Amino acid sequence: MNRLRFKDIMYLKGVGPKRAELLLKELGIKTYHDLLYHFPTHYIDRSRTYRIADFTGEMPTVLVKGQFVTFSVQGDGAKTRLIGLFSDGSGLMEIVWFNRIKQMRDAFLPGNSYIVFGKPTMFNGRWSMTHPEIDPEGTASASEGLRGVYPLTEKLRTRGFTSRSIFSLQQQVISTLGIVSETLPADIVTRYRLMNIGEAIATIHNPSNNHELQRARERLKFEELFYLQLNIQRYARGQKSASNGFRFLRIGQYFNSFYTQCMPFELTGAQKRVIKEIRADMATGRQMNRLLQGDVGSGKTLVALLTMLIALDNGCQACLMAPTEILATQHFDTISSMVAPVGINVKLLTGSTRKKQRDEIHRQLLDGSLHILVGTHAVIEDNVKFKNLGFAVIDEQHRFGVAQRARLWGKNNIAPHVLVMTATPIPRTLAMTVYGDLDVSVIDELPPGRKPVVTLLRYDEQRFSVYQAIGRQLRQGRQVYIVYPLIEENEKLDLKCLEEGYETISETFRDYRVAYVHGKMKPAEKDYQMSIFASGEARILVATTVIEVGVNVPNATTMLIENAERFGLSQLHQLRGRVGRGADQSYCILMTKRKIAKPTRERLELMTSTNDGFVVAEADLKTRGPGDIEGTLQSGIPFDLKIANLAIDGQMIQLSRDAACRLLDEDPTLSSPANRMALQQLGYLNDKTIDWSRIS
Ligand code: ADP
Ligand code: MG
Repeated sequence: MNRLRFKDIMYLKGVGPKRAELLLKELGIKTYHDLLYHFPTHYIDRSRTYRIADFTGEMPTVLVKGQFVTFSVQGDGAKTRLIGLFSDGSGLMEIVWFNRIKQMRDAFLPGNSYIVFGKPTMFNGRWSMTHPEIDPEGTASASEGLRGVYPLTEKLRTRGFTSRSIFSLQQQVISTLGIVSETLPADIVTRYRLMNIGEAIATIHNPSNNHELQRARERLKFEELFYLQLNIQRYARGQKSASNGFRFLRIGQYFNSFYTQCMPFELTGAQKRVIKEIRADMATGRQMNRLLQGDVGSGKTLVALLTMLIALDNGCQACLMAPTEILATQHFDTISSMVAPVGINVKLLTGSTRKKQRDEIHRQLLDGSLHILVGTHAVIEDNVKFKNLGFAVIDEQHRFGVAQRARLWGKNNIAPHVLVMTATPIPRTLAMTVYGDLDVSVIDELPPGRKPVVTLLRYDEQRFSVYQAIGRQLRQGRQVYIVYPLIEENEKLDLKCLEEGYETISETFRDYRVAYVHGKMKPAEKDYQMSIFASGEARILVATTVIEVGVNVPNATTMLIENAERFGLSQLHQLRGRVGRGADQSYCILMTKRKIAKPTRERLELMTSTNDGFVVAEADLKTRGPGDIEGTLQSGIPFDLKIANLAIDGQMIQLSRDAACRLLDEDPTLSSPANRMALQQLGYLNDKTIDWSRIS
């Protein structure tokens, strides 16, 4: 396959420098390899021939066999067009070209038989097709059966590119190359009964039947996922065998005195289990890289705190990073009040920490008197130096880029153990791909006494009764969130909605103070508004999704989400997690207009039927694709997937992962002659993309 990767398509017949440049710019195709891996998005069945006399109504793309009767040029200037009158014996239709008129006129002869493939439309009382594909009958390219449709851009179309011209270029490459050499280790092709690469490439572009096509697609998906997994696994093993990590063997005074004196409640079974897992992992002498998944409200903070105390007991410092100032502050408040009785020094460092305080923190970090540092990104800035950082916790990881995670390693000679906490339930297949190098712990149990949130779907015209219900909650002393969408493209309009909403709410619930936050506010103002809500002084919080992550006000029992149809499922789930944190029955009301599309209604109804974050995440993945899961993918996937789909190819991910692990077990450095080619493939992929070594 090597030759493929370096041969430029410019030298193909019918390409040349100009068209090559266009293909590169529009489709990213530069080499033979790029061209052959430009796959059809779908296929059209050409096995059926239509009769013009049978055309009726809205027609699909169809195949017609017949002859041209006459040609004529009509109109002038930009409107000039060539019209060929085409007959199949049953009726007549017009075939229309708006450009390359002379070429087209010369290309077809009246009286010869052609196969025409296009979408008929009714125009001026006559059927016509614009720019159809036309092949002389009896030629290879006129073959019936499945024909691929290739993605093209508008620009390429106006320059005369068709699905067919892409296909012809590919056929040219295939016939000049002869046999395409295998890109997977031979063992794997045999063991997993895969089609060989040459056959797969030939088939995907020109399948003889659906069964063959599926086999070809399988093979190509496997290959793609296999190299993705090989990359991740190889890196993960490298990381592990580097092995240098703190060995935390002691449970000492900090942990014990906290556990006996300050524990606010009994740990749940799940919390105990994950603490054990983390403890065992920190005792191996290898650096820990662990993902802690737990639905909103499952009590991750307490797990983080207890495991940080283990680090302290082993003579190390710990830090906890959160993605926003609000969250960092909240963590700081929770943690410092909990540990106060046992004499642990906790400090908060954010972008708005004053210089004097900051200097003090820097000093205490260096002399070791500061035990736990809580903060935002400020924590990983270069001038923040620890005496001996042994454990770092990152909360709500999806807002932290990979590069930032990597910067943590540099904070110590021995890289600190890292615990990444996320409430975004990541479906297994995705976790395996994105976090393939992380070990995973799951808190799958909520603290006792929680009543599941009741989720209701309500329409705008029911607003009055919704407000009445909110009024009842307020009279019982509870607090309420009212959430508005805020989506970048329409920011002005959204902000207006939010402001109007705030006014309506303030008027409707005059007896209560209403707080108000959105992302465009100054941090100080935002913090102030949040704090009056957190303290209970304000009973209603009108907000955009800035409250999505982590905010904890157990007395808030009701959340009203306006224009719920504009939120993604995972986002709705995150939002809903802000209520139901106390012992009282909580409610989440999804407001929308009565008329919504069916899929939208189904999404919202799913929310009303389940509180299970994993069910929600799986559904979200299926309906919107993996790219939307809060940017997790951006940070995790190093190369574009052309054919595999993380949302639906779960089984294939598992297979390819097994294959990758097995290969590395047998040949960790991929240095045997049989595997050298795999190593080379990895090299090509990584060249094209990012510095993989920075992914932690
Ligand atoms: P999250 O996993 O969403 O970060 P938190 O750590 O904020 O959840 O915990 C949610 C709430 O549950 C907090 O109010 C916390 O004090 C409480 N909590 C945590 N663990 C327990 C427990 N074992 N028993 C009772 N309440 C708990
Ligand atoms: Mg949290």
